Formats: sequence, C-alpha cells, structure tokens
Amino acid sequence: MNNNLHSLSRRRLLGASAAMGGLALAGCTGAPISGPSIGRVVVVGGGFGGSTAARYLRQWGGNVDVTLVERNAGFVSCPISNLVIGGHKQMADITRGYDGLRAVGVKVVQGEVSAIDAAGKRVKLANGSELAYDRLILSPGIDFMLDGTPGLATALASGRVMHAWKAGPQTTTLRQQLEALRDGGVVAITIPKVPYRCPPGPYERACMVASYLKTAKPRSKLLVLDANPEIQSKKALFERAFKQHYEGILEYRPNNELKEVDGSTAKLEFDDVRADVLNVIPPQRAGDIARNAGLLNMNNRWAGVNWLTMESTAVPGIHVLGDATFPAPLMPKSGHMANQHAKVAAAAIIQLLQGQPVNQTPVVMNTCYSFVTATDVVHVASVHQYDAKDKTFKTVPGSGGVSSAASATEGRYALGWADNIWADALAL
Ligand SMILES: Cc1cc2nc3c(=O)[nH]c(=O)nc-3n(C[C@H](O)[C@H](O)[C@H](O)COP(=O)(O)OP(=O)(O)OC[C@H]3O[C@@H](n4cnc5c(N)ncnc54)[C@H](O)[C@@H]3O)c2cc1C
Repeated sequence: MNNNLHSLSRRRLLGASAAMGGLALAGCTGAPISGPSIGRVVVVGGGFGGSTAARYLRQWGGNVDVTLVERNAGFVSCPISNLVIGGHKQMADITRGYDGLRAVGVKVVQGEVSAIDAAGKRVKLANGSELAYDRLILSPGIDFMLDGTPGLATALASGRVMHAWKAGPQTTTLRQQLEALRDGGVVAITIPKVPYRCPPGPYERACMVASYLKTAKPRSKLLVLDANPEIQSKKALFERAFKQHYEGILEYRPNNELKEVDGSTAKLEFDDVRADVLNVIPPQRAGDIARNAGLLNMNNRWAGVNWLTMESTAVPGIHVLGDATFPAPLMPKSGHMANQHAKVAAAAIIQLLQGQPVNQTPVVMNTCYSFVTATDVVHVASVHQYDAKDKTFKTVPGSGGVSSAASATEGRYALGWADNIWADALAL
C-alpha cells in the first residue's frame, strides 16, 4: 500500500508540475500567499475543475483574490457514487466540505450564478448580488439535452425516473428504488450516444447494480440499453466482467437508443421495455451557465478553448474547464481531466495577471478506475501533450493503457485515487 501511495503522490506532483510550467512554487507549503493582490478571479462551480483551480490560484504565486461560487453546500463526488448505488458505500463517503479551500484563502460563496456580463466583467447571482472579476473561470459540468426524447423531461420531473449522473439526491433515490425492488423485478439503464461525462461510468454502474441484484434479488434482471454500437471504454474488460460475474442477471443490448419515455417504459426503436426501476442517462452538453454566456461554439454543445490557457475561443477573459469543454482528441470527460485542466488554467491565469508568457508545453494525464465488483477494479490511463502545430493536446504514443485484468489491488488504488484527488481539489 505504501508503494501505491508513493506512486499516486508522485503522479499528482507530476501532473501539477507539468501543467505549471515555469511558475515558482511560492505556495507549496500550503500557506496562503500575502502581499498586494495581482487580480480578482471568480470561479463558477465547485466541482472537480473549479475547486482545483480555486485552490491552485491561491497557492501557486501572487496574491490572487479568489471567489468560488457553488450552488450546493458541499462537494459530492460522481467518482465512487456508483458504489453508493450498488450499496457498497454511503453518501457520507463521497461528500466533502469546502473548509480546506477557505483555509487557503478562497472566498466560498454558496449561490447560483444566473448571468455573466462579459463586457462589464461581472457575474450576477440569483440573489441579486454581483461579483467583479479580472478573469472568470467556469467549470459548470454538464446539463441535459431533453428536447430530443419525448416524455423524458416529464419522467425526470416526476421523481420516478432517475439519471443520477450528477451525484447527490438522485444517487440516494436510485439506491432506494433498488432497495424497494421486488425480487424478480426489472431494472433498465439507458446510455446515450457519446460524447457524455465519464465514458466507462455507465458500464461501472451496470456492474454495481448487477452486483446488488446478484446478492439481494437474484431473480431480478438488469437490461443495459446502449445507444452506441458497443461498450465505449475498457470494452474487453467489461465484457469479461458481465460474463464472469453477472451472466443471467445482466443483459447488454447495443444499438438501443432511447426514443421516448412513457411512465416507466423506455421506448426504443424496435422494442418497448417496461422497467420497475428506470435509470436514464440523458444526452449531455455543457452546463447552462456556459450556454447562456454564449460560450458553446462547438456543435452548439461544448465550449471551445485555447489549450494553453483554457480561455474560451468565443468570449475573451472567460476560462472554461472540465466536462463543459469541447475535448481534444481522445481526451475523456473525467474528474481527473477537469483537475488537470484546472492546473493549466491556474498557472496560465497567474502568468497572464503578472504579464508573463504562459507555459507553451503543458502535459496532462488521466486515469479512470471502474469497479466491476465490490472489490475488483480495472483502469484506463492516458497522457496528453500539447502539440504547437495543431494547437491541441495529443496522446503521447506508448503512454497509458488498460489493465490486463480486474483485481483487488486496483480496487485499493481506486479508493486511494479518490481520496487523493478530493484532497488535491479541496485542499483537505
Ligand atoms: C457515475 C459517474 C462516475 C464517474 N466516475 C469517474 C471516475 O471514476 N473518475 C473520473 O475521473 N471521473 C469520473 N466521473 C466524471 C466526473 O464526475 C466529471 O468528469 C467531473 O465531475 C467534471 O468536473 P467539472 O468540474 O467539469 O464538473 P462538476 O464536477 O460536475 O462540477 C460542476 C459544479 O458546478 C456547479 N454549478 C453549475 N452551474 C452553476 C451555477 N450556475 N452556479 C453555481 N454553481 C454551478 C455544480 O453544482 C457543480 O458542483 C464520473 C461521473 C459519473 C456521473
């Protein structure tokens, strides 16, 4: 375990230093930096990207005045939330507070950002207050595209159909629905076409739901209705897990796009599936606030960015992180990647505020772990290096890869990864 922790810490340090480029390590001791302020940065969204950016803006140099605005009282992690749905973890295990960020000097405001005045450099909150900024960071995550699927908005609003694709009350309710299921009942999970947040996430969820049914309701059935032609991440490993652990319980159906929802019935192209528990993962786009600010210049769905600074290519002075961005080739929408975007942005903003050139050679990386049983895990990893000619990140040949097989050792790595990234983002 010590070795694992060493390698995780080393990886974190590597990720941080690659993104930072030439920055002096002024705040590495954890002490907030004093002296005259070099500028005001408002960060919208206290999830993986926004929290990390707020922390490192305070700790990496200059006395940046940082205000983080987040609608929720605390941070609830999507990573590990599938284990809560499977009954292997509790909500408290994936919930953290913002006191660590306050301790490094971030002003944390609980509130809803309702509008952005990019020309006036101000954000407006739903309570009527306003915050002025020199640079703005948006890391609002995703919102759902419900219009293309008749009945879906009504089904989600009814409180009977859960998405649980933003961790929180929906995670709890989906778990309760599974607990209330009769033995012999039917659960259905629908997966949208890519791109969506966390490519392996739906298949991990399928494993977690099936692991619960296998022990608690063995006569029940789980239908995994995938709009895509095949499993989108770690395919061979998930196929092995489905067969090895959940044969007879879990049925995977590719090319099954959800066309309509009618009560608890999922209407597909050639079939209607009536489920006792229907979990719809809807199609996704960047969060509403990014759309309302006019940032979605890629397919009207995602925000294009300059990868050296994470600054929007649509509206100057606004930096966009995480799931809301139009990704570089093979770059996943993950918490790990949002954390890396945040480090590129924090370093670049400090340099821009000080009138210095930004790092021209950033490198970011990603590891996504997936639980296939309560203990056994598989991973996929990649390293992405900025390519000056094409002005985008490209995967480094020979970097990364996937597990050869699921293992309990990787299960320990996965939990260590989660603890480390929460601590890194939230200054715990
Ligand atoms: C089931 C599941 C499992 C996953 N597992 C993994 C995993 O193992 N590893 C991994 O790396 N990734 C995983 N992910 C993906 C990961 O959760 C996301 O990629 C990550 O959360 C993206 O970070 P973000 O900062 O872009 O958005 P988020 O973390 O979603 O943060 C956005 C924040 O902005 C706030 N917000 C939005 N709009 C406003 C507004 N107008 N005003 C105020 N606040 C606002 C929201 O409340 C939210 O807190 C998983 C996702 C799911 C759904």
